[in-house]
Amino acid sequence: MLVPTISLPALLRIKPGSLGRLGIYLKRDGYQRVVLLVSHGLIESIWSHVERALVEAEITILLREEVETATAEAALELLARIPGESQVIVGLGGGKALDVAKFVAFLAGKPYIAVPTSLSNDGFCSPQSSLKLAGKRKSLGARLPYGVVIDTEVCLHAPRPLWLSGVGDLVAKLTAVFEWRVAFHVRGEPINDLAALLSDSTVHQFLARPAYDIEGMKPLATALMLNGIAMEICGSSRPASGSEHLISHALDQISERPRLHGLQVGMATYLMARLQENNVEVIGELLETTGFWEEIRCDPFVLTEWRAAIELAPGIKPHYFSMLADAEARERLMAFLLSDVRLRNCFV
Ligand SMILES: [Zn+2]
Repeated sequence: MLVPTISLPALLRIKPGSLGRLGIYLKRDGYQRVVLLVSHGLIESIWSHVERALVEAEITILLREEVETATAEAALELLARIPGESQVIVGLGGGKALDVAKFVAFLAGKPYIAVPTSLSNDGFCSPQSSLKLAGKRKSLGARLPYGVVIDTEVCLHAPRPLWLSGVGDLVAKLTAVFEWRVAFHVRGEPINDLAALLSDSTVHQFLARPAYDIEGMKPLATALMLNGIAMEICGSSRPASGSEHLISHALDQISERPRLHGLQVGMATYLMARLQENNVEVIGELLETTGFWEEIRCDPFVLTEWRAAIELAPGIKPHYFSMLADAEARERLMAFLLSDVRLRNCFV
């Protein structure tokens, strides 16, 4: 079997105040001319702080663009305007800007530095870009960032639901890895033990201290980043994403008002854990301790949409092994929605 070529981040800074040192990090690695792609609506104080940090380190910003839409078309339009003399592309802000920046850097063949300002999912360091292409959401191939710089102080000041979304996306690794093992037993799908171990252990590291404070930001950021690396190691999304993600993708398609990725995924993870009869209490209690359930109860989901999403989920990736392909499994999930008190309280 061929050993895949992988590329891993070399520059990692996850600590308070790292945004103000971005210029120093880039300069040390020999970068002097950058393109800065920033989330539309990002707080002015954050991007001006970053610009100051770059200018103070004598880094030239050749192009600064706000990214409004996460589409492949917008990425191509940007690609045409990337100055040839730029040495690195920096994505700053939320998921949309980072997905576009990652894809543009990939197409331009330039190194990419991810600078997320919140921790709402594991996309900032994954080997794909989630973009719309001709109106349909696609996972387009890209490369892992060369650098990941996360200012934990900035992430702590992001809205709390974004952090809860990150917790939901992280805990999904437990059900995803379990399902990967089922896929191996049912149809011999190969497992990469290192990727599975990495994914599993990141959750357990976070479980040791799931706190919403400055110290708690680092293990969550590190865990989400390592999940991206786990995907790169095995060349598939299996260590980070399973049927809980299919349910969330289905909700994105049919919901009148889709919620944050990790809020949908976190709840679907608990639901899948009930089906798998594995880690139910670990996941249920983590979501309790962090205030995840409370957040959902304040803005409940719609029961009929979840029922439809469970039916739709296995068809989203037709050739992908999903425990939801079994009609009886889907029936059991439907029953849990009403019989499990944690889930029942999350619906209008
Ligand atoms: Zn996810």
